[in-house]
Amino acid sequence: MTPVPVSRRPAPDVARWCDEFEATCRARGVRVTPQRLAVYRALAEDLSHPTAEAVWARLRPRMPSLSPATVYRILESLDREGLVRRVSVTDGAGRFDANRGPHQHLVCRVCGRVRDVRDPTLTRVGLGRDAVRGFTVEELDIRIVGRCGRCRK
Ligand SMILES: [Zn+2]
Ligand SMILES: [Zn+2]
Repeated sequence: MTPVPVSRRPAPDVARWCDEFEATCRARGVRVTPQRLAVYRALAEDLSHPTAEAVWARLRPRMPSLSPATVYRILESLDREGLVRRVSVTDGAGRFDANRGPHQHLVCRVCGRVRDVRDPTLTRVGLGRDAVRGFTVEELDIRIVGRCGRCRK
């Protein structure tokens, strides 16, 4: 797999998300440690839906004592707490997303690139009542698999 170039979320958005992150943690009585905040910020900055390892690699120069296992544990707990989202991809490595807003993912099966896609028809897919019987749908996680523009060539 070729490495996916880092595309960055605009700094003002990252700053706002980090503020909201801290406020949510405080409201829930969850401690905001420098490590948790650094991991969240690194994920919020990165539009590529990185793996835990990629987040760790970006933080390593600034936080040399941080281990990949710690970054993974932090991302797992943020996912459980609903503060980040785990993205389903085609290969085994878990990818993470700080964007909690309604959106879906285009996944390239060749290079593994993951891109956000927002389309209103994808957020209210016509699920038949019988199909979900008694189940309250809270979120749709749709993975659209194919080949990105670069890999089609
Ligand atoms: Zn591709
Ligand atoms: Zn996403």
